[in-house]
Amino acid sequence: MSNTIKTIGVIGAGQMGGGIAHVAAQNGFSVTVMDISEPGLEKCVQTIAKNLDRQVSKDKITAKDKESTLSNISTTTKMSSLKDCDLVIEAATENEEVKKKIFTELDGILKPEGMIASNTSSISITRLAAATERPEQFIGMHFMNPVPMMKLVEIIRGLATSEATFKAVATLAALMNKTVATSEDVPGFIVNRLLLPMLNEACFALQNGVADVESIDTALQLGAGHPMGPLTLADFIGLDTCLAIMRVLHTELGDPKYRPCPLLVKYVDAGWLGKKSGKGFYDYSAAQPVPSKLPKAA
Ligand code: NAD
Repeated sequence: MSNTIKTIGVIGAGQMGGGIAHVAAQNGFSVTVMDISEPGLEKCVQTIAKNLDRQVSKDKITAKDKESTLSNISTTTKMSSLKDCDLVIEAATENEEVKKKIFTELDGILKPEGMIASNTSSISITRLAAATERPEQFIGMHFMNPVPMMKLVEIIRGLATSEATFKAVATLAALMNKTVATSEDVPGFIVNRLLLPMLNEACFALQNGVADVESIDTALQLGAGHPMGPLTLADFIGLDTCLAIMRVLHTELGDPKYRPCPLLVKYVDAGWLGKKSGKGFYDYSAAQPVPSKLPKAA
């Protein structure tokens, strides 16, 4: 496995950017994390340190591993600090205009042989690549959340992505201890194309009175071997995120089978976004989550 990537830039120091930086640095890569927010960068490094502490306390890594991982990470608010990176992985806010602006600026400063990957969950890789003058060196690299725990990376070729770029990024994923699934550049790629309609269907099952919240979750956990029931999982992902992905599938594929469940829309309208807002299908205000009261018209 020949590796052409040694230095990695990560744009966006949020939950995904931080996780990607953590795993890359832990596997010996030199990582520079760039974000427009200085406090965001500080929080990112603190979170990585805290997650490494947890790995040390579980004897998964040594205190020395923690120190060497942290020493592989530097932070910056300047895009120009990424100019010598072999690969820059973009994990900024899921907004097409924001991402296109980032790519155009990055394209202007990154060394000619530098490659660019986007961690977007739903935006076309071909369209994002077109914001640069190097679409053959542009690819989708879709990590799963939380990055240090989840083994999968989806790799998505844009229309112009070269075989050399694909091979370099697939090799990097293996060196980051991840397993690759290759997807075409289609809405939702593989995981979200299959997972989100299942979560949306669980919302329909609840709305249509097939069963209550706990029965739906228990049925899929114990009857289908899922580690987490679909309504719990939707709460973890964030109901706004679930709705946004369903809307992308519905709009871009044009098939009514992807229509978002009205109950899901209603929860999001109410600000019931799942675990992050304290309430979704479950209410998280007590020590143990309890099912939230269903809206009357459901
Ligand atoms: P987040 O909100 O936690 O982090 C986004 C970060 O991007 C923030 O720190 C923000 O300051 C930064 N940012 C915004 N504009 C920027 C700019 N112009 N330059 C540099 N930094 C900028 O978001 P997240 O959940 O980490 O998601 C990031 C990306 O990863 C999105 O494209 C998302 O679709 C994708 N993704 C998310 C998940 C998930 O479960 N959250 C899973 C897979 C992929």
